Amino acid sequence: MGGKFFADVLVIGAGPAGLGTALALARHGVDVAVLEMQDRIGAKRRGETIRFDRKMDGLLGEGFFAKQTIRRINRRSYFSHTGLRRVDRTIDNPNLIISWPDFIQAMACVAEAAGARILPASTVVGFIREQGRIAGVRAMVGGFMEEELKTKAVFSCGGCEDPASRVLSIDRAGMDMPVSKRLVRGYTGPADRFEYHFHVHGGSLTIATIFPRAKDEAEIILMGYARGRKPGAVSFDEFTQAHEVFRERLEGTTPFYSLKTAIPMGRMISPCCPEDRLVMAGDVLGHVQSRGGSGIRTSFLLGYTAGRLGARALQSGAWTADTTEKLEQGIQGSPPMRDLRRHNLIYSTLRAGIFGRIRDLKHMDRLWPLLRIALR
Ligand SMILES: Cc1cc2nc3c(=O)[nH]c(=O)nc-3n(C[C@H](O)[C@H](O)[C@H](O)COP(=O)(O)OP(=O)(O)OC[C@H]3O[C@@H](n4cnc5c(N)ncnc54)[C@H](O)[C@@H]3O)c2cc1C
Repeated sequence: MGGKFFADVLVIGAGPAGLGTALALARHGVDVAVLEMQDRIGAKRRGETIRFDRKMDGLLGEGFFAKQTIRRINRRSYFSHTGLRRVDRTIDNPNLIISWPDFIQAMACVAEAAGARILPASTVVGFIREQGRIAGVRAMVGGFMEEELKTKAVFSCGGCEDPASRVLSIDRAGMDMPVSKRLVRGYTGPADRFEYHFHVHGGSLTIATIFPRAKDEAEIILMGYARGRKPGAVSFDEFTQAHEVFRERLEGTTPFYSLKTAIPMGRMISPCCPEDRLVMAGDVLGHVQSRGGSGIRTSFLLGYTAGRLGARALQSGAWTADTTEKLEQGIQGSPPMRDLRRHNLIYSTLRAGIFGRIRDLKHMDRLWPLLRIALR
């Protein structure tokens, strides 16, 4: 490979996976730069609830979670479309409400303190190959003209918009579920619980969640479950019209943040190392545990694992097919990956088996006794 390296490793994306990756690489002595397309790290808000995780808290500096917590909620209520059928649960490990921009920026500070360079307004538009191998990326750095950035390895953690996913033509059908998010003010519903409102919309199950936040704020998420490989249909207005209890809850609220995006809860894909010198982690591969408050944690921990093992791969000398194979085996056999697979095997299968079968509203009521088992 000719030319000077921009950094020994380039990480694409400063989300939980990219920051976990960069933190591990930097801590293991690798020169790493993170390229993030947003002008401000964490500006595009995604998840804002998380469960305490000792491992992640320890990696980010003990007390990290406590500093980021706005409030704790351990009660949940699930409502059928009529609101007449419901399930109430109390969970042991409460959901912690966080502010996504603050949480992401605090993670970025930890990675920077470890030695990672984080470059906002830097969009990766393509990959450079030399002798058939990844040798760098083409990127607009700091919003300027496109540049060629040479590197020894690329860790692509760009979530659902990830450029490697596009270049490799990864089939995301049945994986990404459309999701709409709103943050509202003026919420006067129950502040001590998460609410999940179920409806059948456009032929597939749609769920609207209400997560209370500080003061009178709430996060509203609307998600359409995929039917087989077909994504669910989502419309806030239609859902609000059709679901009485949900409509009542939102009366008098004003949105102050809206986002339409996708969440890859349909399935997980592999490999994590699709070719020599290219590693992927996080939402790009569907590393989301199918329960509330787990996408940030699993993406971060898998990113960290990929970075830690990647540092070892880089330090072992020339990166050969054998290096790639060992790295892949290491990630696949790691505790966070085994935990993710085990969890998704139980809950995704259970949910797909029940959620995927609901055809209409009457059917939902008939299946409610079964749904009670899956709603945890
Ligand atoms: C609406 C919504 C609500 C959610 N709620 C929760 C929740 O409450 N709790 C929870 O734990 N999980 C939640 N999740 C899931 C969680 O947010 C994700 O699993 C997690 O953010 C995945 O991390 P990631 O780093 O893989 O991807 P992302 O967080 O998506 O980060 C990817 C980053 O890469 C950048 N990027 C993409 N392409 C490029 C490019 N070409 N060049 C440079 N940068 C690029 C993006 O700008 C982004 O910053 C939610 C997801 C969504 C969409």
